[in-house]
Amino acid sequence: MDFDKTLQELPAYLREFFGKGTVASYIPALARVPAQKFGMALCRVAGPCHRVGDSEERFSIQSISKLFTLSLAMGRCGEELWRRVGREPSGNRFNSLVQLEYERGIPRNPFINAGAIVICDILLDHLPNPKETLRDYLRLLSGSFDIDFDQEVARSEAETGFINYALANFLKGNGNLHNAVEAVLDLYFHQCSLALSCSELARATVHLANAGVSPLLGEALLTGPQVKRLNSLMLTSGTYDAVGEFAYRVGLPAKSGVGGGIAAVLPGDYSVVVWSPELDPSGNSLAGGAALEYLTTVTGKSIF
Ligand code: GLN
Repeated sequence: MDFDKTLQELPAYLREFFGKGTVASYIPALARVPAQKFGMALCRVAGPCHRVGDSEERFSIQSISKLFTLSLAMGRCGEELWRRVGREPSGNRFNSLVQLEYERGIPRNPFINAGAIVICDILLDHLPNPKETLRDYLRLLSGSFDIDFDQEVARSEAETGFINYALANFLKGNGNLHNAVEAVLDLYFHQCSLALSCSELARATVHLANAGVSPLLGEALLTGPQVKRLNSLMLTSGTYDAVGEFAYRVGLPAKSGVGGGIAAVLPGDYSVVVWSPELDPSGNSLAGGAALEYLTTVTGKSIF
């Protein structure tokens, strides 16, 4: 399989997709990212990593971080977690309040904002320093020990995060947060601010393509059943209310973020991360989705 050749074809193929989306503009640090950025990194379970474009440039991973907080919570909380968060696709925007009200403060899944906020509460219950644990987990997984929060982004998230405050207050009012709203959101805003490159994120997710064992560390980070569940949740809830369209076009479990990144895996074969900041109306990277569709279609390698 010539992944290098396919990746090198992408910049020309993607030209027509640029200029058709919008870069997230709710905070200055995201608004000033050049719209034409594009990078991809693909790490084989048994083999090398392939790269193209701006694959080494760090970007704000935003909601892709929900994958890592959920991984940490699954290892610590067990079945109790699923009494507080559901596992159905939401069919609504990632920060929708209305569904949370109908469903009495139980978020549909851990990848919408309300679900991720409950996961932060669980981490605060189980870990003495959850921010550091999360950052160190990503450092270990990626092998890049200078990965960190972007404090400007974390501050801006807090200054503009009125809807997230509303979600957290509503969760608290329904008894689904144990800790103070401020403490829970401080963790949530920091997780959104983590900055990694495509290559770093591809290394940090390759264990999800390998039954939980990191081929880089030679160590099991999650159990096989945990990985099966995480990947299933990505397939059904990882790309917001566009998850059906995304599965139809790409055919891989994936998690996206409003920084323009998408992380996807083909179990048994590879992890792949794409970054391009212009978003479609659902909040998924427009060229990123097109790049993944091209990759799985041209190589014939998707879960289907
Ligand atoms: N910081 C964003 C928010 O909380 C993250 C959302 C996302 O990436 N979908 O609204």
